Amino acid sequence: MIICAKYLMTGDGKTVLEDKAVLTKDGKIEKIASKEELTKAYPEEEVKDYGEATLLPGLCDMHAHLGYYYSQPDTFNYGPQLIMLYALQHAQSAFERGITSVRDMSSAHGVCKNLKLAAEKGFVKIPRITHTDTGICMTGGHAWDEVEEVDGPWEVRKEIRKQVRDGAEWVKVLTTHRSHIPELTQEELNAAVDECHRRGIKCGVHAGTNPGIQMCIDAGFDTIEHATFMTLDHAKQMAEKGIAWTPTIMAYTLLYDICKENLEKNAGKPVNDPVMQKEMKDYQYFEPAYKAYRDHFKEFYDTGVTVIAGTDMVMYQSPFLPLPRELQYMVEYGITPAQAIQTATSNPAKVLGVENERGLVKEGLDADLLVVGGDLSKDITCLNDVKLVTLGGERVFEDGIRYVGTHNMFM
Ligand SMILES: [Zn+2]
Repeated sequence: MIICAKYLMTGDGKTVLEDKAVLTKDGKIEKIASKEELTKAYPEEEVKDYGEATLLPGLCDMHAHLGYYYSQPDTFNYGPQLIMLYALQHAQSAFERGITSVRDMSSAHGVCKNLKLAAEKGFVKIPRITHTDTGICMTGGHAWDEVEEVDGPWEVRKEIRKQVRDGAEWVKVLTTHRSHIPELTQEELNAAVDECHRRGIKCGVHAGTNPGIQMCIDAGFDTIEHATFMTLDHAKQMAEKGIAWTPTIMAYTLLYDICKENLEKNAGKPVNDPVMQKEMKDYQYFEPAYKAYRDHFKEFYDTGVTVIAGTDMVMYQSPFLPLPRELQYMVEYGITPAQAIQTATSNPAKVLGVENERGLVKEGLDADLLVVGGDLSKDITCLNDVKLVTLGGERVFEDGIRYVGTHNMFM
């Protein structure tokens, strides 16, 4: 297939080419040249010309929870089968957002592994998945009722060994929860990083407050998730040590908006009302969280820390993988659309160690491609107008239709 669009954003954070076309063959980007050259050299190829549109790499959501059913009002109904179907629906929604790969940062045990197996067997068509098992926290730590509780360095190591045995490709640790008290000790955090790196896998950590963030930097995690109340000095240290940052701006902004709305709705209720008390407590965290991103994102970005985009949607009825909105916040807070796109294309590829396979529109890489209407380098909201998505050269979304079934299984 020859895909033509007026603009081509390579995904490197700056380059936008004009009037280029891409030839895909055997799942790869075979050649990038002008439409005339390609159509002349390959007259038998189907040509899709999108005109005033932008071609770019398929996006990667670096903080997904495909199998996160814990916020459903009827969790008692969620047995393994229903969880799988929920996760499948979640995964397939990626295509209409232009997403071709996700890093899952904790789902119910075995969900992502089985989704990947189902895709390998051709049962389902889903984005590429890199996944952790369930997260790891201390007893009674953040999200303790959804993840594995561990105490002491040897329990940390044992849990990681079990997860690696069961197919985990990354490890997720959680260590702070809306207070300044760090949860896991430095010794436990160090053990987690050491055990992962010794086994040749990477690890990400949920840390939002201090001194938890500094402890995670010292431990040497590969990615810090949220780092909501990080300082400029933290950002500089992360840049220096090669620790990537997944800010998840949208998740915190959405929670702030919801709290604000609920508080307004319940205005007048006595402050000792338990619902009111919860809302006020949430608001006290999410308001400064929202402001921390709004006021400091650009300053931190400018330190050179590797930023990776992730959505972290876990609220009941929250949208699935709203990555375009996350990128829009980044642009609103001061970076260019091309830089924002880099946080969802070549930066994730580097962090995942697949930069020789994807993350850029470059000859020889996988044909995971996205075409959106308009000039994306001028307007990030062009991402809301998805025209075409290919995964390994195969169309998975085109003109409003998702191709996710088994239609070609017996051909
Ligand atoms: Zn998360």
